[in-house]
Amino acid sequence: MKIICVGRNYVAHALELKNEVPEEPVLFIKPETSFLDYHETFQYPSFTKDLHHECEIVLKVCKKGTKIKEQEALDYVNEITLGIDFTARDIQTILKEKRLPWEKAKAFDHSAVIGDFIPFDEKLKEETLHFTLQKNNEIVQNGDSSLMIFPMRQLISNISDYFTLLPGDLIFTGTPAGVGPCVKGDRLIGVLKGKELFDFSIK
Ligand code: ZN
Repeated sequence: MKIICVGRNYVAHALELKNEVPEEPVLFIKPETSFLDYHETFQYPSFTKDLHHECEIVLKVCKKGTKIKEQEALDYVNEITLGIDFTARDIQTILKEKRLPWEKAKAFDHSAVIGDFIPFDEKLKEETLHFTLQKNNEIVQNGDSSLMIFPMRQLISNISDYFTLLPGDLIFTGTPAGVGPCVKGDRLIGVLKGKELFDFSIK
C-alpha cells in the first residue's frame, strides 16, 4: 500500500506558505509505515518542535489503474474519509531552502493519520464536500472540495500517469488554509459533511 499526497491544492493554502499556485499537481509519497488509524496512539515526534496539522480529504483506491481518464477517475475510488498529513514544518522549511526532498518532514512514521472510511457512493461523488478540523473545540481549518485547484477526477488521472494505482492505496487530496502547530494534549476532530470521522488527542 502506498499513500500519494498532493501539495498546494487550494489557493489560500499555497499563499499562506508563500508558495506559487502550481500549474500541475505537486505530488509526494508517504510509505506504508506512515499510516496510523486514529484509534491508535499518535505521539508527538521527538525530532520536531513545530508539528503542523493538515486536514485533508482522503480517497481509498478500489481497483488497479494506470493512465486513467478523467471521466472514469471516480470509478477507481469507493471509500472516502478525512486524514491528517502531519508535517514537521521546521524540518520542511530547512529542506525547502536547501531544495532537498521533503520525506523527513512529511513521510515519517505515523505522519498519515486516517479517520473512519465511509462509502463514496454515486450521490456523494456528485456533491460538494465540505469539511472542518477542530482543535480543542475551535474550528481551525475549513475545506470545500469545490475550491480544489485540481479536482479529484483530474488528480486521480494525473497521479495514474506516473504511479499505477492499486487497491488499498490512499490519496491525500491537499489541505485548505489554516494549517498550524500542534502540541501534546491537543485534541483534533475531523468532520466531513456533518459526520465526525476522527477524534484523537496527541500524546
Ligand atoms: Zn498536505
